Amino acid sequence: MIHIRSAGEIEKISKACQIVKETLEFIQELIAPGITTMELDHEAEKFIRSKGAKPGFKGVYGYPATLWISIDDEVVHGIPNNRKLQDGEIVSIDVGSLIDGYYGDHAKSFAVGTVDSKKEKLMSVTRECLLDGIDNAFPGNRIGDIGHAVQKKAESNGYGVVTELVGHGIGTKLHEEPQIPNYGKPGTGPKIEVGMCFAIEPMINMGTPGVFTKKDGWTVCTNDGMPSAHFEHTITITEDGAKILTI
Ligand code: MG
Repeated sequence: MIHIRSAGEIEKISKACQIVKETLEFIQELIAPGITTMELDHEAEKFIRSKGAKPGFKGVYGYPATLWISIDDEVVHGIPNNRKLQDGEIVSIDVGSLIDGYYGDHAKSFAVGTVDSKKEKLMSVTRECLLDGIDNAFPGNRIGDIGHAVQKKAESNGYGVVTELVGHGIGTKLHEEPQIPNYGKPGTGPKIEVGMCFAIEPMINMGTPGVFTKKDGWTVCTNDGMPSAHFEHTITITEDGAKILTI
């Protein structure tokens, strides 16, 4: 079932989204060679709780932490640990929050120190993929139009689109209907309607699209060991098109 949210509900989702937006802004300032992913996780949890919210991912599907932190060939769902960030790495940070019964979800890839031009381009194209997807999220269009736009931008740059993981509806649950694939055919899939709220989150690989999950049961990595980037916004659909709530 795809929920059409009331103005009051959208206000609550928006509140959760503002908290994850501020959390990523706060964490961005801490990203530097030498800090561990666990330290970033603790800081994010303190920050979210200081806003009266709860970490959105903690406990969902049994996940133990606040952030998903994925480095270089790790695509998404990296578990924070004692690994120190190193100059030249891409670090992708995904954060959720829960407040007043509603979720917000947001992710960005960052450069640790200085990354090479290839990684820089991967991050900027992945961000453009997200924005192209959002541009296609308006009433009357279909979910497949979003994925098509994302895929077109990624593949025209020679990148691989991860198909095993998708964006999702969001509201009283972190993951709701509909699924938002990062690939698709124009004019296919559920119709986009005013009041829908969902997260679009392209995961784009510099090399081939294939991924596998590590033995920890969470961390998704590229098969070819090449880097990946991930950007995510939660949006709501208005008469005038998408409104980004995590901005
Ligand atoms: Mg998400």
